[in-house]
Amino acid sequence: KGSNGKYTVTLIPGDGIGPEISKSVKDIYAAAKVPIDWEEVSVAPILKGGKTVIPDAAINSVKKNTVALKGPLATPIGKGHVSLNLTLRRTFNLFANVRPCVSIKGFKTPYDDVNTVLIRENTEGEYSGIEHEVVDGVVQSIKLITWDASERVARYAFHYAKASGRSRVTAVHKANIMKMSDGMFLSACRQVAKEFPGITYDEDLLDRVCLQIVQNPKPYADRVMVMPNLYGDILSDMCAGLIGGLGLTPSGNIGRDASIFEAVHGSAPDIAGKGLANPTALLLSSLMMLRHMNLDEYAAKIEKAALTTIAEGKTITGDLGGKASTQEYTEAIIKKLA
Ligand code: NAD
Repeated sequence: KGSNGKYTVTLIPGDGIGPEISKSVKDIYAAAKVPIDWEEVSVAPILKGGKTVIPDAAINSVKKNTVALKGPLATPIGKGHVSLNLTLRRTFNLFANVRPCVSIKGFKTPYDDVNTVLIRENTEGEYSGIEHEVVDGVVQSIKLITWDASERVARYAFHYAKASGRSRVTAVHKANIMKMSDGMFLSACRQVAKEFPGITYDEDLLDRVCLQIVQNPKPYADRVMVMPNLYGDILSDMCAGLIGGLGLTPSGNIGRDASIFEAVHGSAPDIAGKGLANPTALLLSSLMMLRHMNLDEYAAKIEKAALTTIAEGKTITGDLGGKASTQEYTEAIIKKLA
């Protein structure tokens, strides 16, 4: 918090529709008088010693402010670039990826009552990037699970449950097959569970959870699900599908050295620069950020304005079946703040 009573937060507008949806968030925050000063940085990669890296200015800004809001980054495929998202994750030890999916009133999907929270281990597991060829035609990919990372993400899941009023933590796993790796993940969860006597702890198999959620998501509203990396990657997109897709789903990357909040969707190059993008996912991500910063009142006020705008259905963007531009939708939300 600075001397002017405001918090400085790093803003990475990102690529494609990133700058448009970031502007929308900035306009809404200004209207709601959120006590935040944005420090805008670019993470466009630069060449350093033959490698593409994120500019120091961006790294230093996130390090200093410890909280960032990030637009989507386009990841060029097969150009020798390492994924910038992966780089950010590693640089700031972003160990937990938090993905809430809540049905939005007024946006019709096959389910009206989805309210899931999924927390994914974000640093290891199947995405450790340790692969090699044993002999011609045979490759191995190592799924690395450590006690420390499992315990860290488990503890965060219990904290999150407690802070958000959820009464249960469910560890999602395949320890019936992967007895050692997922087995240790579960042991770590069980140990942390003992520190939280007020929260019920249980375990369920990934395949069973998938089946149950698509049949009836309602029972999952009471809990936080926590799981290793790959399972979380897939299950969180499945949950996003239940509430109408990626245009509405926020996420937070919680780290040891910083936390970065971002929409789940990509840079949408097909509609970039046309004023058609839906800023809701980035806006909801920013509200997770406000709650992370204990600025809950501002988050509640903005959330109400945005969700009523969508529920009324008069001024919504094309992806939600409306005709409004990004700007018109943003202005409709701002009107509701008054
Ligand atoms: P995408 O999410 O960008 O787009 C998929 C479809 O959804 C497109 O038709 C797009 O127009 C639409 N869409 C997405 N967000 C929208 C929004 N806010 N409002 C309205 N419509 C929206 O996925 P993609 O096309 O597979 O990826 C494009 C680029 O984004 C790629 O370079 C990819 O690597 C990158 N990407 C980045 C992130 C990230 O930074 N976290 C995540 C996913 C993809």
